[in-house]
Amino acid sequence: MTRPKILVVGAGFAGVECLRRLERRLSPAEAELVLVSPSDYQLYLPLLPHVAAGVLTPQSVAVSLRRRLRRTRICPGGAIGIDPEAKVCVVRKVTGEVVAEPYDQLVLAAGSTTRTFDIPGLRDHGRGMKSLAEAAYLRDHVIAQLDIAAATTDEAERAARLQFVVVGGGYAGTETAAYLQRLTSAAVGRYPRLDRAQIRWHLVDVAPRLLPELGEKLGEKAMATLRYRGIEFSLGTSVASVDATTVKLTDGRTLPSHTLIWTAGVSASPLVATLGAETVRGRLAATPQLTVPGFDGLFAAGDAAAVPDLAKGGDAVCPPTAQHAQRQGKALAENILARLRGAPLKPYVHKDLGLVVDLGGVDAVSKPLGLELHGLPAQAVARGYHLLALPTLTARTRVVTNWTLNALAGDDFVRTDFQSRRPGTLQDFESATSYLTPDQVREHSRPLAART
Ligand SMILES: Cc1cc2nc3c(=O)[nH]c(=O)nc-3n(C[C@H](O)[C@H](O)[C@H](O)COP(=O)(O)OP(=O)(O)OC[C@H]3O[C@@H](n4cnc5c(N)ncnc54)[C@H](O)[C@@H]3O)c2cc1C
Repeated sequence: MTRPKILVVGAGFAGVECLRRLERRLSPAEAELVLVSPSDYQLYLPLLPHVAAGVLTPQSVAVSLRRRLRRTRICPGGAIGIDPEAKVCVVRKVTGEVVAEPYDQLVLAAGSTTRTFDIPGLRDHGRGMKSLAEAAYLRDHVIAQLDIAAATTDEAERAARLQFVVVGGGYAGTETAAYLQRLTSAAVGRYPRLDRAQIRWHLVDVAPRLLPELGEKLGEKAMATLRYRGIEFSLGTSVASVDATTVKLTDGRTLPSHTLIWTAGVSASPLVATLGAETVRGRLAATPQLTVPGFDGLFAAGDAAAVPDLAKGGDAVCPPTAQHAQRQGKALAENILARLRGAPLKPYVHKDLGLVVDLGGVDAVSKPLGLELHGLPAQAVARGYHLLALPTLTARTRVVTNWTLNALAGDDFVRTDFQSRRPGTLQDFESATSYLTPDQVREHSRPLAART
């Protein structure tokens, strides 16, 4: 008898946790495990702001898939379409070749991409914070602004180079602004021609409050801390347009700046749209059992899926966080096992453990299990949480070593220049994959599957 093939798309929190559980619970004779992934690492996204600021090396947050997964076959490439009727996933391999991967059970765990709106110039000039390369580009870009500001004799150019705008007052934007502000504030001491007072950081959000996930008190605490460090806030405001040298805000102000960092939300992976299935605000509508209604053999988890939040009840769906993605991955693996063994599937239930927001140094706010903390206790919880959540002992050791080295010796503020030939904008990163429409998927999948 042939073994059923379980195909997982996406090597993030949900996909890798699911495969690790399946590797442990299924013998090789029981199922074939395949992972489709464009990268050979699992990225620990919550520490990306530390990478952008040079506190951590990029390798510290990229965990080797070949270390984590022992018997899963890795298909290196990106899924560009799924044909749920033929049970075929169409993959563009890293070689450029397009292949069909038939499956018995498919786990869609392709995460999310940066959500952009129809704002003139945003995709061409905005910079994202969602991948390792984007974090590394951002670091080089910010240091380059200091270099150019120190070199120019044009006062207006210097002011524009030293003005930075971050959009998004959630944890990703707040941590990014906080960490990069620390970077520029520490670096400026090494530039005799620059003065700390010339550097301006703005945090912009359309919502009236910072960090709404943490409640009013902690949001205000975080704002007070960052304001004291010189970050300016524009809440209830968004970006009207952006070009290479200016950011126009919806309140009518124009900020001369060469840096717009966009972290205002995420959209589910465009792979979801290739299915032609029901979605909830772009995320694939999933059942509490992490299946996709009406699609045999299809499961979904993480940022790509709208999974009902049974702990909250009502119409609530689980927020797009690593905390949920990781746990959904494990629950999903158990449900695949149940499906293979003819047992009933179990619903996913998880009560949010809270959120930690690391603002750099001893500054932090966190709300573990409803307890509101700020300052050093919050930072201890934040760092402890990340150390526990990092997937391997090697990654934890790298992170602790980097944190310690940075605290003791600081940063050298060098830019690598590896990235200087690419624009590094949202458009530059997101145009990398072109997905198929549901009709195109069918055109590709059937002949490819017949040949496979
Ligand atoms: C800066 C930042 C800070 C954050 N901080 C926190 C935090 O403190 N706490 C928290 O809980 N959450 C945090 N998050 C959110 C958290 O990282 C995400 O919710 C989580 O990564 C989602 O997990 P996932 O498995 O769904 O997707 P991901 O972890 O994003 O993984 C998706 C994977 O799918 C791959 N992929 C994408 N498209 C395809 C394709 N077509 N074919 C094959 N593979 C594909 C990607 O390469 C990636 O490896 C943060 C996010 C960011 C950006």
